[in-house]
Amino acid sequence: MYKLQGIAVSPGIVTGKAYLLDRKRVRHIEKPIKVESVEHETQRFLEAVENSKNQLISIKDKIAGSKSKKPIGHGHLYIIDIHLMFLEDKMLIDETINTIRKKEINAEWALRLVVKNIQKVFDNIEDEYFKERSSDIMHISERIMRNLVGKEEQSIIEIDEEIIIIAHDLSPADTAQMALNKVKGFLTDIGSKTSHTAIMARSLKIPAIVGLERITDVINGGDIIIIDGISGTVIINPNAATIKEYDQKKLNYDEYEKKLFVYKKLPAVTKDGRRIILSANIELIDEIPTTIEYGAEGIGLYRTEFLYMNRKNLPTEEEHFEVYKNLVDGISPYPITIRTLDLGGDKFISQIQLADEMNPAMGLRAIRFCLKEKQIFKTQLRAILRASHYGEIKVMFPMISGIPEIREAKGILEEVKTSLKHDKTPFDENIQVGIMVEIPSAVTIADLLAKEVGFFSIGTNDLIQYSLAIDRVNEHVAYLYEPLHPALLRTIKHIVDTAHNAGISVSMCGEMAGEQEYILVLLALGLDQLSMNSMSIPRVKKILRSSKYHDANEILNNCFKMSTTYEIEKYVRQEMHTMFPDDFS
Ligand code: PEP
Ligand code: MG
Repeated sequence: MYKLQGIAVSPGIVTGKAYLLDRKRVRHIEKPIKVESVEHETQRFLEAVENSKNQLISIKDKIAGSKSKKPIGHGHLYIIDIHLMFLEDKMLIDETINTIRKKEINAEWALRLVVKNIQKVFDNIEDEYFKERSSDIMHISERIMRNLVGKEEQSIIEIDEEIIIIAHDLSPADTAQMALNKVKGFLTDIGSKTSHTAIMARSLKIPAIVGLERITDVINGGDIIIIDGISGTVIINPNAATIKEYDQKKLNYDEYEKKLFVYKKLPAVTKDGRRIILSANIELIDEIPTTIEYGAEGIGLYRTEFLYMNRKNLPTEEEHFEVYKNLVDGISPYPITIRTLDLGGDKFISQIQLADEMNPAMGLRAIRFCLKEKQIFKTQLRAILRASHYGEIKVMFPMISGIPEIREAKGILEEVKTSLKHDKTPFDENIQVGIMVEIPSAVTIADLLAKEVGFFSIGTNDLIQYSLAIDRVNEHVAYLYEPLHPALLRTIKHIVDTAHNAGISVSMCGEMAGEQEYILVLLALGLDQLSMNSMSIPRVKKILRSSKYHDANEILNNCFKMSTTYEIEKYVRQEMHTMFPDDFS
């Protein structure tokens, strides 16, 4: 028995038999070829591409047509379409043929050189979306490579027993084929919290750990595996005592989860009557059912960047409208806060070309980009307004740093309203307008901004980044990314008090809002709403319903007497673990 530690990306505990999926790179060597063999080699390559296409189309058909096995990927078929698109891509296909011809080398080696060059380009872009596209290229080139060397691919769809999948990486085509009732969990060598695999695991509620580095080297098919998706620990061939221990942990965890569901329809109110709204952050419309299942009272942050992803052109007004209308229909009578395009920084980029910038996080992004590209902005605003006729929508502008920006954004919103009136298109004339408070200058002039809008939403992900000068995606300074920094607590208090003095409400929609350990601190800070990953809602509700506002205030007062994050964190953790032993075990 031994243990490995990775990145926990989807919670839960599961024990099962390992199924090693051979998705490792096919080995190949450089082979010079004779001039007269060049055409044959090119042909061989094109055949491998053709075979790859046929395999993907057949996977797609199987998923689309299969009813009995309930594969889980219906909603993700578009990812396979992206892979099919790559098989037509000039940069990949034509370049490989050119390389075979120019360098007179075998197709495998030519493909490898081309993929390496493409990846170099992707690696230099500090953008999560592009990083994911880089792994798509890798997956597709591996498929071509396997066809070149005649290596059969194990198909996940055929698996007929309950298993835990172990793979170097899982391609979207892999995850889309998984039969939900068979795959109990998965472990991969590579990956991060934002990789496709992680996102998929969370939405499917399958325990998963990624970034294990060498799991495929150390595990044999049939090994017994325990995944602890809460702590990120994998136990390989556990002894009887450990199996027993984890069976008990699983029982406790499942029991705890079940208990949490009691809270889903109850209001988030403390024992002494302090009410707070718990809403969900979502990126995809598919998340609405889970959101409702977990008891969210609305959507506090709908990130619209995903509408611009995975496509060659910009979304039309009709496309925007259809999504927003479906969201409103899905979440009504609760409200939804739609954030206008927050492109740039670490955000996904689509075909919209942003200039290379030295500091993209501080560059032409979010509202700055929208105020420059007014047509893109207006298209989105028109669709939001049109959808507002069908349910309660609030519109929220990201990255506001000063008064002129919010006035200009509101001016454009008014222009769009006028044009809709002119067209006799109905919309909610009293639509609420708010801003993300995530830049220190906005904090300082919160009193002035509060006169311009109906609500604030604190974006701690960026607010921490800009207040503490910590790049939110740089792992080298991650240790300094401290939500309970004394400066942050004072900052949040200032925002909340200023908003309340002006009579407007304040929400928090950064990741900090869903951290169980911080809940009482956030309650005492006076936030009216916390918007989080919907899976966190029942836990947070449970803690709130078992607490007293009075006690939360005492905790916060003590935090304000401390001068370092270390002291505050230690104190808050101790208090929370003592008060709620079941929730932090
Ligand atoms: C934030 O900055 O806290 C936030 C919620 O928005 P995003 O993570 O999309 O920047
Ligand atoms: Mg932000």
